[in-house]
Amino acid sequence: MVFVIGSGPAGVAAAHALVKQEVDVTMLDVGLELEPERQRQVDEMAATSPDGWKPETVAKLKEGMLATVGGIPQKLCYGSNFPFRDAGQGRAIEMNAIETLVSGARGGLSNAWGANFMPCARHDIADWCVSAVELAPHLAAVAEFVPVSASHDDLDEFFTLYGKTPSMLQPSRQATALLADLHRNKAALRAAGFTAGFSRLAVQVQPTETNPHGCVYCGLCMYGCPYRLIYSSASSVRQLQRNRHFRYVPGVIVEKLVESGDSVEIIARSRDSGEPLSYRAERVYLGSGVVSTTRILMESLQAYDTPVLIKDSQYFLLPMLRYRSTPGVMQEALHTLAQVYIELLDDSLSRNIIQLQFYTYNELYQAALRNRFGLLFPLMKWMLPSLLGRMSVILAYLHSNDSSAIEVRLLRDANGNRLKMDGRISETPRRVIEGVVRKLWRHRGLFRAVPMKPMLQVFPPGNSYHYGSSFPMRENPARFESDRWGRPAGLRRVHAVDATVLPSLTATTIVHTAMANAHRIASQHPSLL
Ligand SMILES: Cc1cc2nc3c(=O)[nH]c(=O)nc-3n(C[C@H](O)[C@H](O)[C@H](O)COP(=O)(O)OP(=O)(O)OC[C@H]3O[C@@H](n4cnc5c(N)ncnc54)[C@H](O)[C@@H]3O)c2cc1C
Ligand code: SF4
Repeated sequence: MVFVIGSGPAGVAAAHALVKQEVDVTMLDVGLELEPERQRQVDEMAATSPDGWKPETVAKLKEGMLATVGGIPQKLCYGSNFPFRDAGQGRAIEMNAIETLVSGARGGLSNAWGANFMPCARHDIADWCVSAVELAPHLAAVAEFVPVSASHDDLDEFFTLYGKTPSMLQPSRQATALLADLHRNKAALRAAGFTAGFSRLAVQVQPTETNPHGCVYCGLCMYGCPYRLIYSSASSVRQLQRNRHFRYVPGVIVEKLVESGDSVEIIARSRDSGEPLSYRAERVYLGSGVVSTTRILMESLQAYDTPVLIKDSQYFLLPMLRYRSTPGVMQEALHTLAQVYIELLDDSLSRNIIQLQFYTYNELYQAALRNRFGLLFPLMKWMLPSLLGRMSVILAYLHSNDSSAIEVRLLRDANGNRLKMDGRISETPRRVIEGVVRKLWRHRGLFRAVPMKPMLQVFPPGNSYHYGSSFPMRENPARFESDRWGRPAGLRRVHAVDATVLPSLTATTIVHTAMANAHRIASQHPSLL
């Protein structure tokens, strides 16, 4: 029996590739789910059109989301923290100057993600041992079961548009106006290294056979879509469960893998009772999220007190104010995920693409301003519509070559093993980010927008949740490196399939590439490895 560990995007991509080859797969997972009461409320909303949604049910969905001018400290899902809740899967972790998450949810962090779904650009993976040509069919295969909202535009030059006939969420009026200006100034922007297009999102736009709803532009995306149109890999688990080659076993926390002869012993414990559990596997595909996978591998290799580096795609937040306000944004029917992407390729800043994601109006901006200005907020009311009609927030990501990183050590002490994670802070991200802000200021006339530098927020490593590369794939792997099938040196039947094995991290979001690589690894029939 072949085992997949974890039901996040990487685990389900590997499982998809395996069951397609009629390999029998058991998926072990911590498997936390949305609380039944909240589940019932979402079901109630899904069963009706927005005009039938009760205000108290909508309020429950929004519960607990705090917005500040520095962003959203903890994004929830339908008012619940179940995607990040500690059911013991994190075990002892000490974090210094970093922030990471270990999900124990069915569907992992994709329950709460931003659904930005971009393939890697050929340019950014030129130094990988796996070529863009090898990865391409798997980027396409993943886009067959993950819905994609996108359209053909200038981004096609760097990023192939995968998926069935493209359909795209209707952009907000602010986004349309921004892109119209960028289009008008395209030649000058291109000369400066900027390429713009509409966002590419893992969202189902139109009704399908399995989900009869299409987007109703209710603006609730940040809280969780009542119609479940935003992709979560939990939906892929449901789909896989219809296949006779697939079995899903929740409630299991895997701790260690021990290879002997032609099998692997999976050492685990029950999530609920703590009882020890053990499984014998012919082969293991490990997709438990980068921190958990790194730990399981270090425990399995007994790699105590030896540093391993997790790379990060570091990110920053920068509000922009457009010269002209778009009227009526507070009343507009819109989606609130990223609306526009601007890719910046400028050798004087970085050899890799920098991605700027534009988020236009979202009611959380009002909440953030209320929190910032407190008692003075009512005095701003007269200017609020005009201000919000001008405002966009950029979330921008750097390539891992330009980012700080996280040093990880597995320590043994009297109370058992502990993972120590320390920020390895580099000066490079600061320099690149300041360069980007200066460049946006210099080209403000082309964007018809000014960057609000005093509100720039640079986040610590890990906080982008785009991290990995702790056991990078290499043609000839050394210690703490993997071969092209995700097998860390010293292991033959254990394949890490999540971002742990990506050689580097592109700025243009992580999930599509990580899923494609998991799919590629698991598409090689186990009997051939
Ligand atoms: C707020 C937020 C926004 C994001 N936005 C984006 C975005 O827009 N675009 C993008 O590309 N990425 C985004 N990300 C990152 C993205 O969600 C993750 O990169 C992705 O979910 C990682 O997938 P994974 O399968 O490797 O692991 P995870 O999603 O972390 O899933 C791990 C799985 O393994 C299981 N597991 C963990 N430990 C164990 C164990 N010991 N034993 C058994 N099972 C275990 C868990 O139950 C879970 O099912 C975002 C993340 C967050 C938090
Ligand atoms: S706007 Fe967002 S939350 Fe509302 S239906 Fe569309 S995708 Fe779902």
